[in-house]
Amino acid sequence: MTTKDDRVRNVLTVDVEDYFHVRNFADTINLEDWETLEEVAPNATYRILRLFEEQQVKATFFVLGWLAKRHPRLVRAIHAAGHEVACHGYFHEPVRAMTPDEFRADVSAAKKVLEDTIGAPVLGFRAPSFSIDESSLWAFDVLLGEGFEYDSSLFPGRMVPFGFAGVSRQPCRLDRGAAGAIMELPLTTLTVAGVKLPFAGGGFFRAYPYAMIRAGMRHINEREHAPVVVYFHPWELVPQQPRVAAHVKARIKHYLGLTTMEKKITRLLRDFAFVPASEMLETCR
Ligand SMILES: [Zn+2]
Repeated sequence: MTTKDDRVRNVLTVDVEDYFHVRNFADTINLEDWETLEEVAPNATYRILRLFEEQQVKATFFVLGWLAKRHPRLVRAIHAAGHEVACHGYFHEPVRAMTPDEFRADVSAAKKVLEDTIGAPVLGFRAPSFSIDESSLWAFDVLLGEGFEYDSSLFPGRMVPFGFAGVSRQPCRLDRGAAGAIMELPLTTLTVAGVKLPFAGGGFFRAYPYAMIRAGMRHINEREHAPVVVYFHPWELVPQQPRVAAHVKARIKHYLGLTTMEKKITRLLRDFAFVPASEMLETCR
């Protein structure tokens, strides 16, 4: 009989941001308006903490600095429950839209607010919208300079609007010469009939039926002997969130499958084994 410990370990991550932070709505919602909007992420994150406790699973929470500054108690609750607190930037600005100095300022402010809040080092980073690509490899040097030990921003393959052609499917070490080496935990893709599909969570898990998610997870774990890096957002578990008057394509992308997501995540946690990002990387050093 297979026990939970025998199963391939996957990586469970939550990008803690609200519905109004997403790139998809950036044309509609200005940064100056963020503080006037109704938030759903804090309560949803507390619900996620209860779900993870019920399922006895630990995860990595990539928290947006802006949100951490407003909700320090939430960040401390994540840390106190034994999960890993990591960094998702401060203002959710795509890396490739910033200069190296702008990126350094953003990521350093986010790391500081998180570390001051939990009183412990923050070692992991995930770029907003997975926005590190071949044109922004300098971001790794900035991350190393700011004391980060790993990144989880790269999506193997070329997909619009993100994608990174050259990276391995497995956790790997990226050598940056004089800057040092950073560990990379790439997001997961699945090849179906020769086509590479994003397969790591978020809108993709909202769109796919659970049977397909389970089959994909099994395929990657059992045939490819690779972990799946799963991510989702707290707002994806809140079907009744305020509606944004964005253009129709953005609305379809954002509101698709919200009612199914909590059930899918719960089933996923029952059917597969997960660890936080830092624990997965321990084995690859
Ligand atoms: Zn994000």
